[in-house]
Amino acid sequence: DDRIAKIASSIRVIPNFPKPGVMFQDITTLLLDPRAFRDTIDLFVERYKGQDISVVAGIEARGFIFGPPVALAIGAKFVPMRKPNKLPGEVISEEYTLEYGADVMEMHVGAVQAGERAIIMDDLIATGGTLCAAIKLLERVGVHVVECACVIELPELKGRDRLGDRPLDRTSCLE
Ligand code: 5GP
Repeated sequence: DDRIAKIASSIRVIPNFPKPGVMFQDITTLLLDPRAFRDTIDLFVERYKGQDISVVAGIEARGFIFGPPVALAIGAKFVPMRKPNKLPGEVISEEYTLEYGADVMEMHVGAVQAGERAIIMDDLIATGGTLCAAIKLLERVGVHVVECACVIELPELKGRDRLGDRPLDRTSCLE
């Protein structure tokens, strides 16, 4: 699919952000290119349309950019998975470990129902820890996570191995 190469080339790499040694994949340049942004959304929509998916769960913050247009196009609801103390209603929380330290992800109680079929969207999978926390939150309330969908995979960190039997779909992959 020749759309994928154009999407990959629209992503800027910023060395040493947010700290020395990190090559940060900056998707804001993808957003500046309406063709690449449109193609990114279309690739996900083509994959998930007609799959009986009623939930698109988006991970703060960049999952809030890619998730809603996909949700609208496939006729699913959008559920934000947020950093702690951001959601105003009753929440369920999942703690997860980062490279240094820990973080918490939260979801509103009642946003999803047991038996619903969901995809989880984020911009990038590195170690997979963030997506794992989102999977746990959804599965705790009986939702079936059909797949995780990211724009970028960093394959050497083997994040997809942590997703168990839930497949990973990505439009771009750093070799
Ligand atoms: P993981 O939990 O898989 O190790 O890290 C993934 C999370 O960190 C995602 O929410 C993603 O937005 C963020 N992240 C880590 N590295 C990068 C990067 O190079 N670029 C962007 N855009 N996000 C990153």
